[in-house]
Amino acid sequence: MASQGPVNPSHATFDLFVQAQTCKDVKHHFTQLCRQLEIDPEDFGSFYAKLKERLNYWKAKALWTKLDKRASHEDYQQGKVCTKNKCLVLGAGPCGLRVAIELSLLGAQVVLLEKRETFSRNNVLHLWPYTIYDLRELGAKKFYGKFCSGSLDHISIRQLQLILLKVALLLGVEVHTGVEFQGLIEPSGENGWMAKLQPRSHPAAAFQFDVFISAGGGRFVPDGFKHKELRGKLAIGITANFINRHTAAETQVEEISGVARIYNQKFFQELLNETGIDLENIVYYKDDTHYFVMTAKKKSLLKKGVIKQDHNDAEQLLAPANVDYEALCNYACDAADFSTGGRLPDLQFAQNHAGQRDVAMFDFTCMHRAENASLVKERRGKKLLIGLVGDCLVEPFWPLGTGIARGFFAAFDAAWMVRSWGNGVPHLKVLAERESLYQLLSQTTPENTSKKYAAYSIDPRTRYQRVNLSSIQTHQVQHLYDVEKTHPSFKKQKESSLHMRQDSAGGSEELLKWCQKHTAGYKNVNVKDFTRSWRSGLALCALIHHFRPDLIDMSSLDESNCVHNNQLAFSILEKELGIPPVMSPNSLANTDHIDKLTMVLYLTQIQSGFALPKK
Ligand code: FAD
Repeated sequence: MASQGPVNPSHATFDLFVQAQTCKDVKHHFTQLCRQLEIDPEDFGSFYAKLKERLNYWKAKALWTKLDKRASHEDYQQGKVCTKNKCLVLGAGPCGLRVAIELSLLGAQVVLLEKRETFSRNNVLHLWPYTIYDLRELGAKKFYGKFCSGSLDHISIRQLQLILLKVALLLGVEVHTGVEFQGLIEPSGENGWMAKLQPRSHPAAAFQFDVFISAGGGRFVPDGFKHKELRGKLAIGITANFINRHTAAETQVEEISGVARIYNQKFFQELLNETGIDLENIVYYKDDTHYFVMTAKKKSLLKKGVIKQDHNDAEQLLAPANVDYEALCNYACDAADFSTGGRLPDLQFAQNHAGQRDVAMFDFTCMHRAENASLVKERRGKKLLIGLVGDCLVEPFWPLGTGIARGFFAAFDAAWMVRSWGNGVPHLKVLAERESLYQLLSQTTPENTSKKYAAYSIDPRTRYQRVNLSSIQTHQVQHLYDVEKTHPSFKKQKESSLHMRQDSAGGSEELLKWCQKHTAGYKNVNVKDFTRSWRSGLALCALIHHFRPDLIDMSSLDESNCVHNNQLAFSILEKELGIPPVMSPNSLANTDHIDKLTMVLYLTQIQSGFALPKK
């Protein structure tokens, strides 16, 4: 009998690569394919072109058509814009892989590191329409036929990672799994920026790069970045994954795309009466597993013995030692059974990465957010551009499904930043643009972003509705440029700031008039100069109050409390306008220590900061 499969071995391997369902298999078939076609996967510059040329297979061609369409976008300047850039990407989560794809389309050499060996996260993610469109255009359906078919708008994390990993490899991204990033190594001798890795002798440890993108997930903060914690009222989430055997009976059970207590009181009351389980909401999606995510009330978790002891502190409350794992499994299982009307015949837990029953409980109201999205470090004259994307930039509020949507937006924005870097835009401008965009990210919703998904690209103007790439200006991001103090470029920076001081001093009359105009009428404020008049801090506070009355309560300030007033003004100006203080609150309070030129420089920055259009 004639064989149904392809006769050419590389075609068969390509099929295996496309269908592979584990990270290990994807990598194995990819290596095999490269060997068969005699292409060096490290030859990133011409890898994709050679692959297309040598793999003359109709199934592959359908994929090339999609990838070619993307690659031909004008933003990538025919894959030439970043050919001189070497990028290290940390993390093969969805966002790390997505940014790696964009960087390779820009022509950069991209090395991606992932500490895990397997993709094992079963949890299913709700996707915004644009992400579905974006993934389809990358060939998602070719790799995973079920991808968002019909009205489905979700996918498991591991499937999403598999799709993106395959695309990344085909485009020449070098992916290393089982290798942990432990920090940056500063340039020394002939060497540029490198990474400290575990295992230490890993070949990627020799990679020198000028761009580092961190997509290490929730709590991973690279050196130099600060995270803010946002904590809301305690809300306890539970996720549970059960094996999907894809039987006819399982197929018929309807998904629950989100039912909240306020919309279905009866359902939740019956659940409570029959099982003692008290929930705020529940979602059920089908993918590789039957996935349930619910928000449970603390009281019912205590009553059912899931949480052993009550604590006010969320960390203590949900610490593993305070959770009865068996009781948690029963709780999740009963909730899943009740909400699907007992129609899922055999609720057997799927396994998580640790080989245990895949159930988890967490407080999802504590979220982290980075204060800034980018940084430039310079040592021994070698600059390194650093950017954050995904959960390590902004942790999402999962019930809104913002994780992947904002994560991909940040990945595109980071790629846009690297594009400017590759185009030789001055580093402060690159940083200012990136931070201007970062301000928009947290406000994005499916409603206020462009609906023209086909036009989406790394160019922010195709996605955000109102973009002002200079809403943050270069002087406001100077603190994001970390250069060693002894290096000539630091001296140059100092000199140019001295020139600016002299220029500023020259034009100081105008500045004085501006200060007088905007502080007129405030009690105990009389601006006559750049020294004594600012001592009490009231004039600075008055300036702030004039432009942003919401930020300061003038009636609460005491003229004699100079240090406090100065400190208050300094912190507001730093937080709101990104202007770092130029002296201590004590020095300003002490007339002998006020340097006129320093004050002129500081006020000049404040003047241009307030001159910006209001956000
Ligand atoms: P991650 O997926 O966390 O990936 C980070 C990767 O970096 C990991 O693979 C990690 O191993 C690796 N890594 C970390 N440190 C190192 C290191 N030092 N060296 C090497 N590798 C490292 N989002 C949605 O869009 N829709 C939803 O419906 C949704 N539901 C959710 C439900 C729950 C219960 C939870 C918890 C989250 C949900 N999310 C949802 C959020 C979504 O899962 C995340 O936003 C998304 O996974 C973030 O992707 P990422 O690539 O930024 O980070």
